[in-house]
Amino acid sequence: MQPVLSIQGISKKYGSIQALNNVSFDVPQGCVFGILGPNGSGKTTMLSIILDILQANSGNYAWFGKPGSPETRKQIGSLLETPNFYHYLSAVDNLNITKAISGRGDAADIDRVLEIVKLSARKKSKFKTYSLGMKQRLAIGAALLGNPEVLVFDEPTNGLDPVGIAEIRELIKQLAREGKTIIMASHLLDEVEKVCTHVAILKKGTLLTAGKVDEVLANEDIVEVSATDT
Ligand code: ATP
Repeated sequence: MQPVLSIQGISKKYGSIQALNNVSFDVPQGCVFGILGPNGSGKTTMLSIILDILQANSGNYAWFGKPGSPETRKQIGSLLETPNFYHYLSAVDNLNITKAISGRGDAADIDRVLEIVKLSARKKSKFKTYSLGMKQRLAIGAALLGNPEVLVFDEPTNGLDPVGIAEIRELIKQLAREGKTIIMASHLLDEVEKVCTHVAILKKGTLLTAGKVDEVLANEDIVEVSATDT
């Protein structure tokens, strides 16, 4: 089956800093694909490149077998940075604003998305009254507008308390069960083991290995590198 995303030889430099060095891997359809690496290993840079936010210096990538374009981007929902939700507005109002600005989704989508992220019961409460976990669930809800096939998340559990972390991990697994392909950056080996089916491990911008989580993590040398550096 054709990969959802194919990355070939991507390199990126910021001045003299080599953030990514000739990185290649494929993301199969229907998987939860973790990009694992310590701080500064190039995870956010890679996600920014595949979302057309940044340009690589060399290499290329294809979504669904085609180069990135506005058409393919419609099939990809993303959460790289926490959206600027309005604190004094409700979840419904905030999602309506996101929908209007992004052009993703329709009116029926708002209720569908709130149901998925388990915020229906609190949809009229002001955003400022939400827990951190609820705020993050709303941010994931915003990424779900328009029902994209693929979701790209950068460190989706960062900064959350244990309850919030468990909720977000369960939500990601639920989205995968519903058929979405999810690509997520994480610096936590433990998180990748719990949530992901596949993983690519980055260290200082270089790909150490990529493949199925159980196969990659069966390699003790790799586990040691990931565990000590993350
Ligand atoms: P983190 O989890 O800390 O965000 P990361 O794995 O996502 O880490 P990147 O943020 O992609 O890694 O950073 C990779 C390297 O590129 C690091 O050395 C970082 O300092 C550098 N870098 C990232 N963005 C810039 C920038 N805008 N200008 C200069 N250097 C940058």
